[in-house]
Order: sequence, then structure tokens, then C-alpha cells
Amino acid sequence: MNVAHWLARTARVMGDRPALMQGMRVLADYAELARRVRRRAAQFKTVDGLAAGDRVALFLPNCPAYLELLHAAWHAGLAVVPVNHKLHPREAAFIARDSGAALMVVEAAADRAALSAALAEAGSPARLVKPDHGLDGPAGAADPADPVARAAEDLAWLFYTSGTTGRPKGVMITHGNLMAMTLAYFCDVDEVRTEDAALYAAPMSHGAGLYNFMHVLRGAAHMVPESGGFDPAEILALGRAHGSLHLFAAPTMVRRLVDRARADGVTGEGLRTIVYGGGPMYLADIEEAVAAMGPRFVQIYGQGECPMTITALPRHLVADRSHPDWRSRLQSVGRAHACVEVRVERPDGVAAAPGEPGEILVRGAPVMAGYWGNPAATAASLRDGWLRTGDVGHLSQDGFLTLTDRSKDVIISGGSNIYPREVEEVLLTHPGVREVSVIGAADADWGEVVVAFVVADPVVGAGELDRLCLDALARFKRPKTYHFVAELPKNAYGKVLKTELRARLAAAGRP
Ligand code: AMP
Repeated sequence: MNVAHWLARTARVMGDRPALMQGMRVLADYAELARRVRRRAAQFKTVDGLAAGDRVALFLPNCPAYLELLHAAWHAGLAVVPVNHKLHPREAAFIARDSGAALMVVEAAADRAALSAALAEAGSPARLVKPDHGLDGPAGAADPADPVARAAEDLAWLFYTSGTTGRPKGVMITHGNLMAMTLAYFCDVDEVRTEDAALYAAPMSHGAGLYNFMHVLRGAAHMVPESGGFDPAEILALGRAHGSLHLFAAPTMVRRLVDRARADGVTGEGLRTIVYGGGPMYLADIEEAVAAMGPRFVQIYGQGECPMTITALPRHLVADRSHPDWRSRLQSVGRAHACVEVRVERPDGVAAAPGEPGEILVRGAPVMAGYWGNPAATAASLRDGWLRTGDVGHLSQDGFLTLTDRSKDVIISGGSNIYPREVEEVLLTHPGVREVSVIGAADADWGEVVVAFVVADPVVGAGELDRLCLDALARFKRPKTYHFVAELPKNAYGKVLKTELRARLAAAGRP
């Protein structure tokens, strides 16, 4: 089973359907998309000399070529390593080295000198190529062959997630995982129709890119906004112009979309499905969204280690205001997908009773194969097939799961995950910084913002710490506020009490 077969199948039966769009401009139909994919796959195989199982990193913003490169890699039997394009060159170079990527596709305007230096410093042999790689390959390179055979347990997508240890870990997602996830979507989340288009307003390197499969299978189009990202006015206009769009939006994006729709006096016409997830959606926000825009919303809960397929709250349950449990269901993340088992476990390992909190575990076909080259982390997260999500929550009598906490301390700002430890490690490289603790503070615009508590020599200022972060981290991970303190609150074991720091911020009413 190779997911590349899906594109070949659709191109055969619906070759004239629009496949790639930039805004409302159609760039390619399915026959043309499949041709480009075969040509690029031929380049990977015969010119670049890559073999089944080799890795290709994509360090790109959203662009139409993204989809071609993903499917070309799979067609050639390779695994993709999508890298968040906002990462610092050093962070991207770490991923290139760790994954053993042979090639890294970077945007034409990228600072290639900085990237080459970072790759050399990290010891990665990855060769930098441009997004049009393989399109103008040797004449006749268009590969007539079927996709290279892959087994369900073969690696398809190596997704880097920042770990609590500060170093990102490669989550191994197989062809079988992607197939289970895709079929589960049709079973428990939503239908996709040929006349639909998937609008990529969130990063394709992350969850948004995974929606391509459902749309490929149904012969629906793939649309990259002209802005390449999330612009609420543009999205509302595209909805009206196209008439049947699907998009994934983090809760903060939903809020901005609803604000814009309200301000413009529109209801989001043409936005058929807005899938939300990736972070907590506050009840007031989703209530307002449904009131302003109607039955367009569907919720999913997943994580890189079990992509989008732990639970779902389908459209009719999000929109059914007449149901007596409507509000409590909206506060939940829905019910377990048909293809997984979900369990809430108490700290003593016993299954929690309904209503009782515990860690959320999931087992089933979409659960990752493990962490790339990291058996210790794999053993800590996967036991007897059960994935320990690090999320805390409880199940209701009728199977609705409500999340209450994140035991991993991750900060989710604007839909992006930031692990405090990686920011802390950078700040601690400053010779004048003695101790540091980074936490998330509630923020009306971003969901959470990064705040650092620092114990430092009196001469150390916020400006130089900010410059230090800019030199080593993606911009979105920088602390927005620094609090210089004499000491950090700690428990008897010397562990910093983040809960107390959070309480201080809450009491002060500002980050
Ligand atoms: P990632 O691995 O980057 O996709 O992040 C996954 C984490 O985001 C999960 O472990 C949850 O903590 C959080 N998350 C994902 N979906 C939801 C949701 N629907 N509601 C609340 N939190 C969510």
C-alpha cells in the first residue's frame, strides 16, 4: 500500500477535474498534476539516485508545489520530512541531520548561504534544491511506472515534534497510519465531494497538509491562498468566489475569522467545512462561531503521534443547539474514532471511571510506529500499542472526552506548539543567566503567549535575551515578556513550581 496510488487512481478517472489552484486560478487538473508528480519522481529516482525509504525534507511555506513534491516523493517510494518553514536555519538543519534527509527542498528566496552553513555545522549531507526540482528534468524523465511498492508499515511522513527534552523528535507515520486516518475521516468527521476544494490556510508541513488525502481521493481541488497563509478577509472572499471550501483552522484562527465575518456582516458563505482542533477551543468562542456562521464547524482531536484521529465532534453535534447536552458536548473533543480505542488512565494504571480525570491513552491503526532513531522515547510513549498522549481529561457516561490539562507543559500560541524547555535551554546559554522558567500566559489574540521568568545578573536586559533567542529559535517561540526575579519558586526536590508562576501571572492579570 502506497498513498501515491490514490493520486494515480483519481487522475485516471477524473483527469479533467481541477487539482491545483492558487486563489481562484486553476494551475493544473488531475491529469497534469499526476504528470508533474511522475516527472519529479523520475528525477528523485534516476537523477538524484534516491532509493525506497530515503528521506526528502521540505522546508517550504505553503505553495502549490508542496503537493507535487509530497506525492512525487511517495511515488518514488521515499518518505517526506515536512519542516515548519518558520524554523531557524539551525533548527531546520538539526531535523535534516536527525532524519538523514538526502535532499532539502527550500523556497527560491531562501537564504541558501545561511542554510548551507547550518547544515554543515550540524553535519547534515542534505543537498539544497528549489521547489521546481525535477520539473524540467531530462527529456523523457516522466516516469511511466506505477508508484514504488510500499508496505503498510513503511515510513511515509516523518513529522518533527518538539520534545520536552528540548530536542525535536521524529514521529514515524507510516502509509498504513495515513490510510487509517484518511478512511476514519470519511467515517467519523465529514464527507468530501468532488466540487469541494481544500484551502491550505494553516501550514501544510503540519496537520493542514494531511487533509490532502481525502481531497485527492474524491477528486476535489487543492487551493493555496494568494497570501500563502491565513488572512481572514481573503478566506471569506475565496469562500464566496469558490462556493465549497474546506479548511483546517486552529482555535485562534476561528476566532479571527468569526470577528472578520461579523465586522463584514457575512456568515462565511462558501466555507462548507471548517475543521478546528490542535488546541483548546473555549466554549464562548465556539458558541459565538456557530451563532455567527452556522453549521460549518467540525472538531478533531489528535496529535502528531496519532494524527487527527483520536476523537471527533461532527458537524451536527457542534451545531445542534436544541440538544440538552449541547454545551457540555461543545466543551468536549467528541467521541473516539471507530478505528481506535481511547482510555483514560489513573496514575495507578487503573481505567478511570466516567467523570474521573486521568491521562488519555489511544490504541489503533493510526498510532505512529514510534520515534525515529529514539527507542527510549518510543518505549516511554508506546506500551502494548497504547500511545500515552500526555493530555489529561475525562470521559462522560456516553463516551464524550473532555480535555482538562496538558501534562507535557506545552505552550500553544496561535496554533503552534512551543515546548518551554527548548526556549529555556537557549536562555540558559547566556553567561549572566542563572535560572530560567518559561510558561504560557493566556492571551486574547494568540491563545497563549510565551513568558520567561529569569534569575540573572543585574546587568542582563530583555533586549539581549531577545537577540539570543532570535539567533537560535523560530521567532514565534521568543518570550513576549521577561520577568527578572531574585529566585524561582521550587518544591522540596528543587523542581521549579510552574503552577505557582502561572498563579502569579493570573493574579497580576497580565503576562
Ligand atoms: P500536535 O502534536 O502539534 O498536533 O499537538 C497535539 C496536542 O494539541 C494534543 O496533544 C493536545 O494537547 C492539543 N490538541 C489537539 N487537538 C485538540 C483539541 N481539539 N482540543 C484541545 N486540545 C487539542
